Amino acid sequence: MKLVYKMGITLGVVVFLVAGLGIAGGFSILWMRRNAAELEKVNKYSAMIEDLRAKTRQWATSAESVLTGEGSKDFFHFSTLLLEERLSSLLNQPIPGDELKLVEVISSHFYKARPLLEGLLAKGENPQKNAEVIAKVDQYVREISRNVEVLVNSHRIYTERVTARVNRTEDIGKCVSLAVPSTTILLSILLVLTMGRTVINSVGTLVSATRTMAGGDLSKPIGLKTGDEFGEIANAFEEMRKELRQKEQKLEQLSITDALTGLFNRRYMSVKLEEEIARAKRFHHLLSVVFIDIDSFKKYNDRYGHLEGDKVLKGLAVAVLNNIRDKIDTACRYGGEEFLLIVPESSTLQALTVSERILQGFSSKPFLPKDPAGGEDPGSVHVTFSAGVATLKDHDDDSEKLLHRADQAMFQAKSQGRNRIVTV
Ligand code: GH3
Ligand code: MG
Ligand code: MG
Repeated sequence: MKLVYKMGITLGVVVFLVAGLGIAGGFSILWMRRNAAELEKVNKYSAMIEDLRAKTRQWATSAESVLTGEGSKDFFHFSTLLLEERLSSLLNQPIPGDELKLVEVISSHFYKARPLLEGLLAKGENPQKNAEVIAKVDQYVREISRNVEVLVNSHRIYTERVTARVNRTEDIGKCVSLAVPSTTILLSILLVLTMGRTVINSVGTLVSATRTMAGGDLSKPIGLKTGDEFGEIANAFEEMRKELRQKEQKLEQLSITDALTGLFNRRYMSVKLEEEIARAKRFHHLLSVVFIDIDSFKKYNDRYGHLEGDKVLKGLAVAVLNNIRDKIDTACRYGGEEFLLIVPESSTLQALTVSERILQGFSSKPFLPKDPAGGEDPGSVHVTFSAGVATLKDHDDDSEKLLHRADQAMFQAKSQGRNRIVTV
């Protein structure tokens, strides 16, 4: 995914989380406020109901004194007015349904008892004479007191329930107000860190790959496979690395190859021969070399021209390559019309056998040079070479003595009449 999308999504998620945090905070404030308002309302009712209880008791006492004929008219009227006022104010409050019903019952008993008591007071008779009325009033008063107690109890239970609910919701609110911000902050940090890590890792990989390339090592692939912009940069780098590597390998190849014959050149031969000598000495293995020199090549060149001579050099390279072991033996153009074969793990006799196969193949295949003067073509011309074979000895510290012996052997072959191979 593109880095810009990743960053956009990260930013979006962080903004979403922060907005969520704000909304949750707002809701929890509203919730707390509602709870506080509800508790305030319940407490206000509690005070009114307690007041109702006190006024009912007062009124019941005044009613009792009326019934016994000992009561004061003023005290009764006063307590009646207070209770009436309290009842009507309670009836106007939006109190819970069950409690409202109780207040209505109390109120209805009160308004039934009140005219009877006022009647008794107005007549001024001994109330004892109206036993029936008294019994009725007495019952109303008892009912009122009983219902007030029921109301007080019911309201207490209601208050406890509301308080418990408010406490519970406040606990939840506290948990939410702690959990939501901390989770939001943690998630935001996590997202930003993940994002940062992706960027830092990608940049780190690119920097180390660039350093490796700048240090000249083009062999290591840039292992960054992200689908973002860093991945695109890495892909472009990787293509550049591959191209440079191919060019480097091509140049390496060119620097060790002889342009005319395609064999290794003398520079490579020197390095390779020293390596093979070291290896053979370390593991006590055999190592032989063959020094080849084309016979009377000057004459050939003089007679047919250098271009025809070049064809002979190429022909000898083909004959050599046809007869040596691939990736084991090494064939080099030593210089001019001289070639050197490095034949590891081989005795003098084995190297001689290989050389004879090459000589046989080379000398039996004729060349068809053209006459440079434009005269009649000379037809098939056979070319030969002389060669010297030498094998590594314990006291050979480097290539010099070995090459010298092979060279000497080759000269012996020349002096013995050419077209042959001499061993030492
Ligand atoms: P011998 O049998 O004693 O080796 O005699 P020779 O003529 O081969 O030896 P000499 O050293 O006298 O001559 C070598 C010749 O090889 C001289 C030169 O013209 C020829 N020569 C060297 N390099 C090249 C090359 O790249 N192309 C061609 N065509 N000829 C080359
Ligand atoms: Mg020569
Ligand atoms: Mg020669």
